[in-house]
Amino acid sequence: MTIRRAAREVPVGPLALGGGNPIRVQSMTATDTADAAATIDQINALAEAGCEIVRVSVNTAKAAAALPEIRRRIAIPLVADIHFNHKLAIEAAPYVDKIRINPGNIGDENRIRAVIARANEFDLPVRVGVNGGSLERDIAIKHGARAAENMLMPPEHGFPAEALVESALRNIEILERMGFARIIISVKSSSVPLTVRAYRLLAAACDYPLHLGVTEAGTKDNSNIKSSIGIGALLLDGIGDTLRVSIAARDTADKIGEVRTGFKILQALGLRRYGVEVVACPTCGREDPGFDTARIALDIEQMTARETRPLRVAVMGCCVNGPGEAAEADIGVMASGKTARIFRKGKVAATLVPFGEVAQHVNQMIESILKGDGC
Ligand code: SF4
Repeated sequence: MTIRRAAREVPVGPLALGGGNPIRVQSMTATDTADAAATIDQINALAEAGCEIVRVSVNTAKAAAALPEIRRRIAIPLVADIHFNHKLAIEAAPYVDKIRINPGNIGDENRIRAVIARANEFDLPVRVGVNGGSLERDIAIKHGARAAENMLMPPEHGFPAEALVESALRNIEILERMGFARIIISVKSSSVPLTVRAYRLLAAACDYPLHLGVTEAGTKDNSNIKSSIGIGALLLDGIGDTLRVSIAARDTADKIGEVRTGFKILQALGLRRYGVEVVACPTCGREDPGFDTARIALDIEQMTARETRPLRVAVMGCCVNGPGEAAEADIGVMASGKTARIFRKGKVAATLVPFGEVAQHVNQMIESILKGDGC
Protein backbone atom coordinates (compact mmCIF):
# COMPACT_ATOMS: atom_id res chain seq x y z
CA MET A 1 0.00 0.00 0.00
CA THR A 2 1.20 3.50 -0.82
CA ILE A 3 2.20 5.57 2.20
CA ARG A 4 0.88 9.08 1.69
CA ARG A 5 3.10 12.06 2.31
CA ALA A 6 2.10 13.68 5.59
CA ALA A 7 0.68 17.05 4.63
CA ARG A 8 -0.65 19.51 7.15
CA GLU A 9 -4.43 19.95 7.10
CA VAL A 10 -5.82 23.02 5.37
CA PRO A 11 -9.60 23.67 5.34
CA VAL A 12 -11.44 24.53 2.14
CA GLY A 13 -14.97 25.44 3.17
CA PRO A 14 -16.47 22.37 4.84
CA LEU A 15 -13.74 20.08 3.45
CA ALA A 16 -10.09 19.82 4.37
CA LEU A 17 -7.06 18.97 2.27
CA GLY A 18 -4.06 17.12 3.66
CA GLY A 19 -4.04 15.72 7.17
CA GLY A 20 -4.93 12.25 5.90
CA ASN A 21 -8.23 13.42 4.40
CA PRO A 22 -9.44 11.82 1.14
CA ILE A 23 -7.80 13.11 -2.02
CA ARG A 24 -10.40 15.50 -3.41
CA VAL A 25 -11.37 15.77 -7.06
CA GLN A 26 -11.93 19.22 -8.43
CA SER A 27 -12.74 20.86 -11.71
CA MET A 28 -13.02 24.32 -13.21
CA THR A 29 -15.88 25.86 -15.15
CA ALA A 30 -15.46 26.87 -18.77
CA THR A 31 -18.32 29.38 -18.73
CA ASP A 32 -18.03 33.15 -18.53
CA THR A 33 -18.32 33.59 -14.78
CA ALA A 34 -20.20 36.85 -15.35
CA ASP A 35 -22.97 34.66 -16.77
CA ALA A 36 -24.09 33.42 -13.38
CA ALA A 37 -26.90 31.18 -14.67
CA ALA A 38 -24.64 29.26 -17.09
CA THR A 39 -21.90 28.98 -14.48
CA ILE A 40 -24.31 27.70 -11.83
CA ASP A 41 -25.72 25.12 -14.25
CA GLN A 42 -22.26 23.84 -15.07
CA ILE A 43 -21.16 23.73 -11.43
CA ASN A 44 -24.26 21.82 -10.38
CA ALA A 45 -23.76 19.31 -13.21
CA LEU A 46 -20.14 18.85 -12.11
CA ALA A 47 -21.26 18.40 -8.51
CA GLU A 48 -23.81 15.78 -9.56
CA ALA A 49 -20.97 13.88 -11.22
CA GLY A 50 -19.04 13.96 -7.94
CA CYS A 51 -16.94 17.13 -8.25
CA GLU A 52 -15.95 18.15 -4.72
CA ILE A 53 -14.40 21.59 -5.23
CA VAL A 54 -14.99 23.91 -8.18
CA ARG A 55 -12.93 26.82 -9.45
CA VAL A 56 -14.21 29.72 -11.49
CA SER A 57 -12.25 32.35 -13.35
CA VAL A 58 -12.61 35.77 -11.76
CA ASN A 59 -11.20 37.85 -14.55
CA THR A 60 -13.43 40.93 -14.58
CA ALA A 61 -15.45 43.08 -12.23
CA LYS A 62 -18.59 41.53 -13.74
CA ALA A 63 -17.29 38.04 -12.94
CA ALA A 64 -16.62 39.11 -9.36
CA ALA A 65 -20.10 40.64 -9.17
CA ALA A 66 -21.67 37.29 -10.17
CA LEU A 67 -20.06 35.44 -7.25
CA PRO A 68 -22.72 36.16 -4.58
CA GLU A 69 -25.45 34.59 -6.73
CA ILE A 70 -23.22 31.65 -7.72
CA ARG A 71 -22.35 31.08 -4.06
CA ARG A 72 -26.03 31.04 -3.09
CA ARG A 73 -27.02 28.46 -5.68
CA ILE A 74 -24.30 25.83 -5.42
CA ALA A 75 -23.42 23.39 -2.66
CA ILE A 76 -19.71 22.64 -3.13
CA PRO A 77 -16.68 24.75 -2.15
CA LEU A 78 -16.00 27.57 -4.60
CA VAL A 79 -12.55 28.80 -5.59
CA ALA A 80 -11.77 32.15 -7.22
CA ASP A 81 -9.06 31.88 -9.86
CA ILE A 82 -7.13 35.14 -10.01
CA HIS A 83 -4.56 36.27 -12.54
CA PHE A 84 -3.01 39.74 -13.01
CA ASN A 85 -5.50 41.77 -10.97
CA HIS A 86 -5.18 41.18 -7.25
CA LYS A 87 -8.09 43.55 -6.58
CA LEU A 88 -10.44 40.92 -7.97
CA ALA A 89 -9.29 38.54 -5.23
CA ILE A 90 -10.18 41.19 -2.70
CA GLU A 91 -13.67 41.54 -4.19
CA ALA A 92 -14.16 37.78 -4.45
CA ALA A 93 -13.07 36.85 -0.93
CA PRO A 94 -16.43 37.17 0.90
CA TYR A 95 -18.11 34.75 -1.52
CA VAL A 96 -15.58 31.96 -2.00
CA ASP A 97 -13.89 29.19 -0.01
CA LYS A 98 -10.41 29.57 -1.46
CA ILE A 99 -8.41 31.96 -3.58
CA ARG A 100 -5.97 30.78 -6.21
CA ILE A 101 -3.28 33.24 -7.23
CA ASN A 102 -0.62 32.84 -9.87
CA PRO A 103 2.50 34.42 -8.39
CA GLY A 104 3.99 34.78 -11.87
CA ASN A 105 1.47 37.40 -12.87
CA ILE A 106 -0.03 38.80 -9.67
CA GLY A 107 2.70 41.41 -9.35
CA ASP A 108 4.86 42.60 -6.48
CA GLU A 109 4.87 41.47 -2.87
CA ASN A 110 2.57 44.27 -1.77
CA ARG A 111 -0.21 42.88 -3.91
CA ILE A 112 0.27 39.41 -2.44
CA ARG A 113 0.15 41.00 1.02
CA ALA A 114 -3.15 42.67 0.17
CA VAL A 115 -4.64 39.34 -0.94
CA ILE A 116 -3.41 37.60 2.21
CA ALA A 117 -4.84 40.30 4.46
CA ARG A 118 -8.21 39.73 2.79
CA ALA A 119 -7.88 35.93 3.04
CA ASN A 120 -7.24 36.34 6.77
CA GLU A 121 -10.35 38.46 7.11
CA PHE A 122 -12.48 35.57 5.81
CA ASP A 123 -10.34 32.64 7.05
CA LEU A 124 -9.70 31.54 3.48
CA PRO A 125 -6.89 29.31 2.26
CA VAL A 126 -4.82 30.43 -0.70
CA ARG A 127 -3.46 28.23 -3.44
CA VAL A 128 -0.14 29.38 -4.78
CA GLY A 129 -0.63 28.12 -8.32
CA VAL A 130 2.74 28.21 -10.06
CA ASN A 131 2.53 27.54 -13.78
CA GLY A 132 5.46 26.68 -16.03
CA GLY A 133 4.07 29.06 -18.66
CA SER A 134 4.01 32.15 -16.44
CA LEU A 135 6.92 32.27 -14.01
CA GLU A 136 8.08 35.47 -12.33
CA ARG A 137 10.37 37.39 -14.67
CA ASP A 138 13.55 37.19 -12.57
CA ILE A 139 13.13 33.44 -11.98
CA ALA A 140 12.43 32.86 -15.67
CA ILE A 141 15.58 34.78 -16.69
CA LYS A 142 17.69 33.04 -14.06
CA HIS A 143 16.61 29.70 -15.52
CA GLY A 144 17.35 30.55 -19.14
CA ALA A 145 14.46 32.62 -20.54
CA ARG A 146 15.33 35.01 -23.39
CA ALA A 147 13.76 38.41 -24.03
CA ALA A 148 12.19 38.68 -27.49
CA GLU A 149 9.75 41.36 -28.69
CA ASN A 150 8.65 42.40 -25.21
CA MET A 151 8.09 38.77 -24.29
CA LEU A 152 10.09 36.26 -22.36
CA MET A 153 10.72 33.10 -24.32
CA PRO A 154 11.44 29.95 -22.34
CA PRO A 155 14.78 28.21 -22.86
CA GLU A 156 14.96 25.81 -25.80
CA HIS A 157 14.29 22.72 -23.72
CA GLY A 158 11.89 24.41 -21.32
CA PHE A 159 12.34 25.53 -17.74
CA PRO A 160 13.79 23.05 -15.28
CA ALA A 161 11.60 21.80 -12.45
CA GLU A 162 13.79 23.81 -10.08
CA ALA A 163 12.40 27.04 -11.57
CA LEU A 164 8.82 26.11 -10.69
CA VAL A 165 9.84 25.02 -7.21
CA GLU A 166 11.87 28.19 -6.65
CA SER A 167 8.79 30.25 -7.48
CA ALA A 168 6.62 28.18 -5.15
CA LEU A 169 9.08 28.35 -2.25
CA ARG A 170 9.61 32.08 -2.69
CA ASN A 171 5.88 32.68 -2.41
CA ILE A 172 5.49 30.31 0.50
CA GLU A 173 8.16 32.31 2.29
CA ILE A 174 6.33 35.57 1.63
CA LEU A 175 3.12 34.10 3.04
CA GLU A 176 4.88 32.56 6.03
CA ARG A 177 6.54 35.90 6.84
CA MET A 178 3.00 37.25 7.12
CA GLY A 179 2.18 34.44 9.54
CA PHE A 180 -0.10 32.84 6.94
CA ALA A 181 -0.16 29.04 6.77
CA ARG A 182 -3.44 28.11 5.05
CA ILE A 183 -1.46 27.37 1.93
CA ILE A 184 -2.03 24.87 -0.85
CA ILE A 185 0.47 24.66 -3.68
CA SER A 186 0.61 23.52 -7.27
CA VAL A 187 3.52 23.53 -9.71
CA LYS A 188 1.90 22.58 -13.00
CA SER A 189 3.43 22.31 -16.42
CA SER A 190 2.23 20.88 -19.73
CA SER A 191 5.20 18.50 -19.64
CA VAL A 192 4.51 15.33 -17.68
CA PRO A 193 8.16 14.61 -16.69
CA LEU A 194 8.67 18.24 -15.64
CA THR A 195 5.45 18.28 -13.63
CA VAL A 196 6.32 15.05 -11.84
CA ARG A 197 9.85 16.18 -11.03
CA ALA A 198 8.68 19.58 -9.77
CA TYR A 199 6.08 18.06 -7.44
CA ARG A 200 8.59 15.54 -6.11
CA LEU A 201 11.03 18.33 -5.28
CA LEU A 202 8.31 20.44 -3.73
CA ALA A 203 6.92 17.54 -1.70
CA ALA A 204 10.34 17.09 -0.11
CA ALA A 205 10.70 20.80 0.62
CA CYS A 206 7.47 21.55 2.51
CA ASP A 207 4.47 19.94 4.18
CA TYR A 208 1.66 21.97 2.62
CA PRO A 209 -1.12 20.12 0.78
CA LEU A 210 -0.42 19.75 -2.92
CA HIS A 211 -2.93 20.27 -5.70
CA LEU A 212 -1.95 17.96 -8.57
CA GLY A 213 -2.47 18.49 -12.26
CA VAL A 214 -0.85 18.53 -15.66
CA THR A 215 -1.81 21.86 -17.14
CA GLU A 216 -2.79 22.53 -20.74
CA ALA A 217 -2.99 18.78 -21.15
CA GLY A 218 -5.01 19.08 -24.35
CA THR A 219 -8.20 17.52 -25.58
CA LYS A 220 -9.85 14.53 -23.97
CA ASP A 221 -7.66 11.62 -25.12
CA ASN A 222 -4.36 13.43 -24.66
CA SER A 223 -5.43 14.88 -21.36
CA ASN A 224 -6.58 11.54 -20.03
CA ILE A 225 -3.22 9.98 -20.89
CA LYS A 226 -1.06 12.85 -19.66
CA SER A 227 -3.10 13.31 -16.49
CA SER A 228 -3.19 9.61 -15.72
CA ILE A 229 0.57 9.28 -16.08
CA GLY A 230 1.52 12.54 -14.37
CA ILE A 231 -0.99 12.55 -11.54
CA GLY A 232 -0.81 8.77 -11.23
CA ALA A 233 2.97 8.71 -10.86
CA LEU A 234 2.78 11.27 -8.06
CA LEU A 235 -0.07 9.51 -6.29
CA LEU A 236 1.93 6.29 -6.41
CA ASP A 237 4.69 8.22 -4.61
CA GLY A 238 2.14 9.15 -1.96
CA ILE A 239 2.15 12.77 -3.15
CA GLY A 240 -1.03 14.78 -3.64
CA ASP A 241 -4.03 15.94 -1.65
CA THR A 242 -6.36 17.14 -4.40
CA LEU A 243 -6.31 16.91 -8.17
CA ARG A 244 -7.72 18.43 -11.27
CA VAL A 245 -7.69 16.84 -14.70
CA SER A 246 -7.56 19.61 -17.34
CA ILE A 247 -9.40 18.94 -20.59
CA ALA A 248 -9.55 21.52 -23.38
CA ALA A 249 -13.33 21.70 -23.71
CA ARG A 250 -16.27 24.02 -23.10
CA ASP A 251 -19.20 21.64 -22.96
CA THR A 252 -20.48 20.56 -19.61
CA ALA A 253 -20.37 16.91 -20.70
CA ASP A 254 -16.64 17.20 -21.37
CA LYS A 255 -16.06 19.04 -18.12
CA ILE A 256 -17.80 16.17 -16.35
CA GLY A 257 -15.14 14.03 -18.04
CA GLU A 258 -12.53 15.87 -15.95
CA VAL A 259 -14.29 14.74 -12.79
CA ARG A 260 -14.77 11.16 -13.95
CA THR A 261 -11.17 10.79 -15.08
CA GLY A 262 -9.97 12.26 -11.80
CA PHE A 263 -11.93 9.70 -9.82
CA LYS A 264 -10.93 6.89 -12.15
CA ILE A 265 -7.26 7.72 -11.59
CA LEU A 266 -7.84 7.50 -7.85
CA GLN A 267 -9.89 4.33 -8.28
CA ALA A 268 -7.22 2.65 -10.40
CA LEU A 269 -4.74 3.28 -7.57
CA GLY A 270 -7.09 2.04 -4.86
CA LEU A 271 -7.31 5.51 -3.29
CA ARG A 272 -11.02 6.26 -3.80
CA ARG A 273 -13.96 4.34 -5.22
CA TYR A 274 -16.36 5.93 -7.68
CA GLY A 275 -19.26 4.78 -9.82
CA VAL A 276 -19.67 1.46 -11.53
CA GLU A 277 -16.25 0.12 -12.46
CA VAL A 278 -16.56 -2.45 -15.23
CA VAL A 279 -13.66 -4.86 -15.41
CA ALA A 280 -13.74 -6.70 -18.74
CA CYS A 281 -11.39 -9.19 -20.31
CA PRO A 282 -9.78 -8.09 -23.59
CA THR A 283 -11.41 -11.06 -25.39
CA CYS A 284 -9.54 -13.52 -27.55
CA GLY A 285 -10.18 -16.56 -29.68
CA ARG A 286 -11.52 -18.42 -26.64
CA GLU A 287 -14.46 -16.08 -26.13
CA ASP A 288 -17.60 -18.23 -26.15
CA PRO A 289 -19.30 -17.88 -29.56
CA GLY A 290 -22.17 -15.41 -29.45
CA PHE A 291 -20.96 -13.69 -26.26
CA ASP A 292 -19.76 -10.14 -26.98
CA THR A 293 -17.69 -9.14 -23.94
CA ALA A 294 -16.92 -5.66 -25.22
CA ARG A 295 -20.53 -4.87 -26.17
CA ILE A 296 -21.88 -6.07 -22.84
CA ALA A 297 -19.24 -4.10 -20.90
CA LEU A 298 -20.03 -0.96 -22.92
CA ASP A 299 -23.78 -1.40 -22.44
CA ILE A 300 -23.34 -1.73 -18.68
CA GLU A 301 -21.08 1.34 -18.63
CA GLN A 302 -23.63 3.37 -20.57
CA MET A 303 -26.56 2.21 -18.45
CA THR A 304 -24.72 3.24 -15.27
CA ALA A 305 -22.83 6.27 -16.58
CA ARG A 306 -24.43 8.71 -14.13
CA GLU A 307 -23.94 6.53 -11.06
CA THR A 308 -21.35 7.78 -8.59
CA ARG A 309 -21.87 5.17 -5.86
CA PRO A 310 -19.15 2.54 -6.09
CA LEU A 311 -19.69 -0.96 -7.42
CA ARG A 312 -17.45 -3.37 -9.32
CA VAL A 313 -18.68 -5.49 -12.21
CA ALA A 314 -16.56 -8.07 -14.06
CA VAL A 315 -17.43 -9.29 -17.55
CA MET A 316 -15.45 -12.29 -18.76
CA GLY A 317 -15.69 -13.97 -22.15
CA CYS A 318 -15.11 -17.59 -21.10
CA CYS A 319 -14.38 -19.81 -18.12
CA VAL A 320 -10.57 -19.38 -18.17
CA ASN A 321 -10.34 -16.35 -15.86
CA GLY A 322 -14.06 -15.93 -15.31
CA PRO A 323 -14.52 -17.51 -11.87
CA GLY A 324 -11.50 -15.72 -10.41
CA GLU A 325 -12.47 -12.23 -11.59
CA ALA A 326 -16.14 -12.82 -10.82
CA ALA A 327 -15.30 -13.77 -7.24
CA GLU A 328 -13.52 -10.46 -6.66
CA ALA A 329 -16.31 -8.30 -8.10
CA ASP A 330 -19.65 -7.24 -6.64
CA ILE A 331 -21.25 -8.69 -9.75
CA GLY A 332 -19.45 -11.09 -12.07
CA VAL A 333 -20.54 -12.25 -15.51
CA MET A 334 -18.97 -15.24 -17.20
CA ALA A 335 -19.85 -16.74 -20.56
CA SER A 336 -20.50 -20.42 -20.00
CA GLY A 337 -21.16 -22.19 -23.26
CA LYS A 338 -24.30 -20.87 -24.92
CA THR A 339 -25.52 -18.87 -21.90
CA ALA A 340 -23.98 -16.79 -19.12
CA ARG A 341 -23.56 -17.26 -15.40
CA ILE A 342 -23.89 -14.29 -13.11
CA PHE A 343 -22.23 -14.15 -9.71
CA ARG A 344 -22.94 -11.92 -6.73
CA LYS A 345 -19.93 -11.57 -4.44
CA GLY A 346 -18.49 -14.80 -5.85
CA LYS A 347 -21.66 -16.87 -5.39
CA VAL A 348 -23.78 -17.98 -8.35
CA ALA A 349 -26.81 -15.67 -8.57
CA ALA A 350 -28.18 -16.68 -11.98
CA THR A 351 -27.47 -19.33 -14.60
CA LEU A 352 -28.58 -19.91 -18.17
CA VAL A 353 -28.92 -16.16 -18.81
CA PRO A 354 -29.23 -15.59 -22.58
CA PHE A 355 -26.31 -13.53 -23.87
CA GLY A 356 -28.67 -10.84 -25.19
CA GLU A 357 -30.15 -10.30 -21.72
CA VAL A 358 -26.93 -10.09 -19.72
CA ALA A 359 -26.49 -6.28 -19.68
CA GLN A 360 -30.10 -5.66 -18.66
CA HIS A 361 -29.95 -8.38 -16.01
CA VAL A 362 -26.77 -6.88 -14.53
CA ASN A 363 -28.25 -3.39 -14.61
CA GLN A 364 -31.28 -4.58 -12.62
CA MET A 365 -28.95 -6.24 -10.10
CA ILE A 366 -26.97 -2.99 -9.78
CA GLU A 367 -30.14 -0.95 -9.19
CA SER A 368 -31.31 -3.47 -6.62
CA ILE A 369 -27.97 -3.48 -4.77
CA LEU A 370 -27.72 0.29 -4.75
CA LYS A 371 -31.31 0.58 -3.51
CA GLY A 372 -30.26 -1.61 -0.61
CA ASP A 373 -32.37 -4.60 -1.53
CA GLY A 374 -29.28 -6.75 -1.17
CA CYS A 375 -29.93 -8.66 -4.38
S1 SF4 B 1 -11.43 -14.56 -20.25
FE1 SF4 B 1 -11.45 -16.05 -21.92
S2 SF4 B 1 -12.16 -14.87 -23.70
FE2 SF4 B 1 -11.49 -13.38 -22.17
S3 SF4 B 1 -9.37 -12.97 -22.74
FE3 SF4 B 1 -9.34 -14.54 -21.15
S4 SF4 B 1 -9.28 -16.48 -22.27
FE4 SF4 B 1 -9.90 -14.86 -23.75
